[in-house]
Amino acid sequence: MFYRSLKSSSKLVNFEEAVKKGLAEDGGLFFPKKIKKLKKEFIENLENFSNIDIAYEVIKQFIGDEINENDLKNIITNTIDFDFPLIDIEKNVKSLELFHGPTLAFKDVGARFMANCLGYFNKKSNKINTVLVATSGDTGAAVANGFLDVKGTNVVILYPKNMVSEVQEKQLTTNKKNITAFRVDGTFDDCQQMVKKAFTDKELNNELNLTSANSINVARWLPQMFYYFFAIKQLKINNKKIVFSVPSGNFGNICAGAIAMKLGLPIDQFVASTNSNDTIPRYLNSKNYNPKKTIPTISNAMDVSNPSNFIRIEEIFQDFNELKNCFSSYSFRDDKTLKAVKSVYKNSNYILDPHGAVGYLGLKKFLANNSDFIGIFLETAHPIKFSNHIENELKLKLKIPQSINKILKKEKIFTDLSSYNEFKNLMLNFG
Ligand SMILES: *Cc1c(COP(=O)(O)O)cnc(C)c1O
Repeated sequence: MFYRSLKSSSKLVNFEEAVKKGLAEDGGLFFPKKIKKLKKEFIENLENFSNIDIAYEVIKQFIGDEINENDLKNIITNTIDFDFPLIDIEKNVKSLELFHGPTLAFKDVGARFMANCLGYFNKKSNKINTVLVATSGDTGAAVANGFLDVKGTNVVILYPKNMVSEVQEKQLTTNKKNITAFRVDGTFDDCQQMVKKAFTDKELNNELNLTSANSINVARWLPQMFYYFFAIKQLKINNKKIVFSVPSGNFGNICAGAIAMKLGLPIDQFVASTNSNDTIPRYLNSKNYNPKKTIPTISNAMDVSNPSNFIRIEEIFQDFNELKNCFSSYSFRDDKTLKAVKSVYKNSNYILDPHGAVGYLGLKKFLANNSDFIGIFLETAHPIKFSNHIENELKLKLKIPQSINKILKKEKIFTDLSSYNEFKNLMLNFG
């Protein structure tokens, strides 16, 4: 399968190159050269297929003959060995739980898929890739977990001091082996700045073979299509229109949903639900794309004001009116989000996390004017990852899952940093 850059479509690369590079040489995002619809009989009979068979059918055209059927099925099996349950919340409102993976957030699927693909491509070489990742919490945890012990990879995580939750920090700093954590005296943007600078630093690149594992990598982006197929498989309702509400930050997850629709999955509408970082809702209202300074919120994995993947969504829908026809977007402030956490607990005895709560709010807003739809919101993280906000709001103590209990007892290991030069010196003396 070939990928082109969204900046200049002339030069094509294969899947392996797209995964290893992350970003095209001209700085553009990679996009599949061709997208072929799936067979109708397959889509109408999803309930007769296992999740692994569905995932294989969905992803295989994006990989082509670069990984054979057996090996690709193994990669998929390693990626999705957990459940994706669809839970009834209210009439016509369902939650697709994406947090049953090892780090309790949906990013496990993309991170594990990418790690397995890189491990596969590295099998025959002795080169070591250094995977650099800046994180506001969830990405780094998923990447660390996915890449732990993967051949030919060293992972370096940069996270902002005092800005990730306790559970997240434990997930970032207790892995050891090929995973190293740097605690940066600064914000997430400072971490991202260092990573970006590292990629343009020739000396570092020559020495370390840098790769990025952030959400624009095609191997992290595309497997997210699976969620939408798994949801429809469990829905078992014909002749109703279907809307997905996706809590969105960098817009990778919802963009994968749009590709699933292109493949023929019966989705009628998307709602991109955001927190106070409302660049896209404002854009859809005004046609004016005007990112502002990022605002910190309780749904911190969505604190993004200039979503990288939006350009891919525009590529999928081509013109503004076509986009508006099947795409709505709403923004909600933290006070509304916490109110939703409370009311859903009271009325449905269901505990949302702050990200899922934003998704729920967007869905309710859409359904208020579109009662002929059945709605699914994506619940992207386990509430325990944000237990301070949830326990405060609901006045209860959340049960700690076993996997978290284990790491809470482990010692955090990290190195403190405050400047790019410090970072560079540490990297050059690495391993
Ligand atoms: C990353 C993340 C999001 C945002 O997903 P995007 O693909 O960046 O839009 C939402 N919820 C949680 C819990 C996340 O970790």
